[in-house]
Amino acid sequence: MASISLKNINKVYPNGFHAVKDFNLDIEDKEFIIFVGPSGCGKSTTLRMVAGLEDISSGDLLIDGKRMNDVEPKDRDIAMVFQNYALYPHMTVYDNMAFGLKLRKLPKAEIDQKVREAAKILDLEGLLDRKPKALSGGQRQRVAMGRAIVRNPKVFLMDEPLSNLDAKLRVQMRIEISKLHEKLGATIIYVTHDQTEAMTLGTRIVVMKDGVVQQIDTPHNLYNKP
Ligand code: ADP
Ligand code: ADP
Repeated sequence: MASISLKNINKVYPNGFHAVKDFNLDIEDKEFIIFVGPSGCGKSTTLRMVAGLEDISSGDLLIDGKRMNDVEPKDRDIAMVFQNYALYPHMTVYDNMAFGLKLRKLPKAEIDQKVREAAKILDLEGLLDRKPKALSGGQRQRVAMGRAIVRNPKVFLMDEPLSNLDAKLRVQMRIEISKLHEKLGATIIYVTHDQTEAMTLGTRIVVMKDGVVQQIDTPHNLYNKP
């Protein structure tokens, strides 16, 4: 379960730049929310505030009704997938996925179970011994997803996760992410430039411009209006 509320959220960077202005949004459990808008409009900043990677200047962030503004990122039960899904080049797929769990000192048997479950979901079972350089772009992106999934988070934040992939892989991964959303039953916020991704993945789309929310609507209403 994870509902997320952003209440009157503002971000003013230390240099005085007002990047996000009075952002209001109530996200229901298991929604797939898409952020779209021109480069520099504040999408990543908003995502990073939800993750706790960026301080909130004013306003409240609630997850399941609990105020999260001052909660450490590691205690937020949120996983983030970026476009430059930097994997550890010297580690195998298995160890890349297990890394975060080892840091948290989980028992080995539990780590092993979680990694294998994630590998199964992502169809990586045959690739666990490989190093990243021996994988295709799509396989690497799946490993990056795997690192997030093993933590079993209630919330996934994805910042243009497919933008570095070629067109064919993007289509394939888009379908996989859609299936993943169903399987995991997680709440997802997803930043993209791609209208097809927004239309096919989103339960609702948030359109931003210059740090301001312009529109929030379903893909159907947003793109099919005359
Ligand atoms: P988007 O993800 O929509 O491309 P960002 O959230 O990355 O936009 O950036 C929003 C605005 O905030 C941009 O104008 C960017 O230059 C500015 N910005 C981002 N990070 C900082 C920072 N650390 N200090 C000052 N301004 C920043
Ligand atoms: P570490 O080197 O971090 O102590 P190990 O290599 O001893 O970890 O592996 C611990 C467990 O993880 C093993 O029991 C094994 O089942 C599993 N494991 C490690 N690497 C792989 C791999 N490449 N493929 C499948 N399982 C692996």
